[in-house]
Amino acid sequence: MSAPQDAGRPASPAGLAPATVAVTAGRPRTRPGAAVNEAVWLTSTYVADGPYDYGRTGNPTWDAFETVLGALEGGRALVYSAGLAAMAAATALVPDGSVVVAPSSAYSGTTTQLQLAQRQGRLTLRQVEIADTDAVGEALRGADLLVVESPTNPMLDVADLPALVDLAHAEGALVVADNTFATPVVQRPLDHGVDVVVHSVTKYLAGHSDVVLGATVTRDDSAGRDLHERLRAHRHLTGSIAGPQEVWLALRGLRTLTVRVERAQANAAELARRLQAHPAVRAVRHPSLPDDPGHARAVAQMRGFGAIVSIEVDGDAAAAERVAAATRLWVHATSLGGVESSLERRRRHAAESPVVPESLLRLSVGIEDVDDLWADLDQALRA
Ligand SMILES: *Cc1c(COP(=O)(O)O)cnc(C)c1O
Repeated sequence: MSAPQDAGRPASPAGLAPATVAVTAGRPRTRPGAAVNEAVWLTSTYVADGPYDYGRTGNPTWDAFETVLGALEGGRALVYSAGLAAMAAATALVPDGSVVVAPSSAYSGTTTQLQLAQRQGRLTLRQVEIADTDAVGEALRGADLLVVESPTNPMLDVADLPALVDLAHAEGALVVADNTFATPVVQRPLDHGVDVVVHSVTKYLAGHSDVVLGATVTRDDSAGRDLHERLRAHRHLTGSIAGPQEVWLALRGLRTLTVRVERAQANAAELARRLQAHPAVRAVRHPSLPDDPGHARAVAQMRGFGAIVSIEVDGDAAAAERVAAATRLWVHATSLGGVESSLERRRRHAAESPVVPESLLRLSVGIEDVDDLWADLDQALRA
């Protein structure tokens, strides 16, 4: 078994494909009789004078997870207690009084966090349609931070990441991108110049709806390493740390990320296509659809489309609630990115953006058989 003193796991050699990196990176060093998996290191402290000091500052199980996620995103990762802890750490990189540009519709927790900071007088928030590059450019005048989410939750708007990064950097603004929906299988924001990638590890990275965790990833150049050290200090000082058991489960989930995402997004594209012709469905949003607003940019920049599909049911909020209650295979629950398919009417949450239609159902498409998923959705839509 690897001991903490053996830290310094070999990352995967450069040039390997994501499917190989996900499986091979972050393993303990091999020697005869060694375990092939990292252990769950349940300890609050370490014997003095070694590479680890205290449980709030470091843990070998975190290191293994961070090595794999860093290799997949092309940077250096840090794991946190939740996606929102990672987002709070990333936005704390800019000083009090900063001007922050963020999407008018994004994950409600991110929006609420930024709005609270504005009410407390800690920043000035400018909300803008993230798919409207010109509007973002306008809003960026004199800004210190751009927060991007792409595709957005739950409207699936796709941002032109390279263009937004150029506009933000020309203003001297830092760019934080939430890559939860796309995952590094579909899009690597650091390759487009983004400064900090944020993940809700809870979703696709862990992938089994059994943990709540977050992560940041920064580039491995000198500017990125500085951000990494500042984020690491913030995590250590705020104590927004993850339990080793949860991180081990996320590491286990990460090993199958590429096969899960590939299967789920193939199912999603097929269901989106079929849903477009369904008499009980008014509108379908998925970046794979030719008439989806994000289509052209998505095709140009992404290596896939992700596995979230949003539909507007023909009818009101109650009609959408009836569909969600009538499925048998699809779980009626919040959250997303698990192997199991789930769905939810987002406006049932008071914090959800008013931009989101009342009858919108967000479908998190899992890895089950696509015809079984379709049959269940179809009977629920007709119920
Ligand atoms: C769920 C989610 C978050 C928040 O992550 P938690 O792990 O629940 O704290 C942030 N961004 C997006 C896009 C999400 O879907």
